[in-house]
Amino acid sequence: MILVDILQVLHLYVVVVNEQLSYTIYMWTCSSCGRRFNKENQPHSCKTIPFNEHFKHKDKAKELFDYLLDQITDKIGKCEIISLPCCIHLFGKYDFLAALPKKDSLEIRFALERVLDDAKLTASVPLSTKTYKNCLVIVSTKDINYELLEILREAYFLKS
Ligand SMILES: [Zn+2]
Repeated sequence: MILVDILQVLHLYVVVVNEQLSYTIYMWTCSSCGRRFNKENQPHSCKTIPFNEHFKHKDKAKELFDYLLDQITDKIGKCEIISLPCCIHLFGKYDFLAALPKKDSLEIRFALERVLDDAKLTASVPLSTKTYKNCLVIVSTKDINYELLEILREAYFLKS
């Protein structure tokens, strides 16, 4: 009888461990907008807008965005596009980048565990004690070079 009890306790323990493991990789998908979050019932606005609306009269920004997305997909990893009213999010392992189309440029915002030392940096805002949101403006496809892609790789894998 004691053996059975021990086995039951062990079984219970294994189940708990498994549940803990599955919690760490758990992602909640909102059933109405399809966005994914780390927390269940994460408060958010479900509103999305058609992707092309971001690029009305902003051909240069569209060219830069297409090139950036191509380069990220090719050299870093897959992303999903989430078109929100305020900006376009790229979702890799998490929402790792926000793109804001401007008239002749594309602003991008992403988190890093440091303030970026880059001439194109327009702002750096602390997000937590460890991470900073870095904003920079891309004006040419030449700006989307090896250096920038290495920085974006850091952002892409920041929460993996
Ligand atoms: Zn939603």
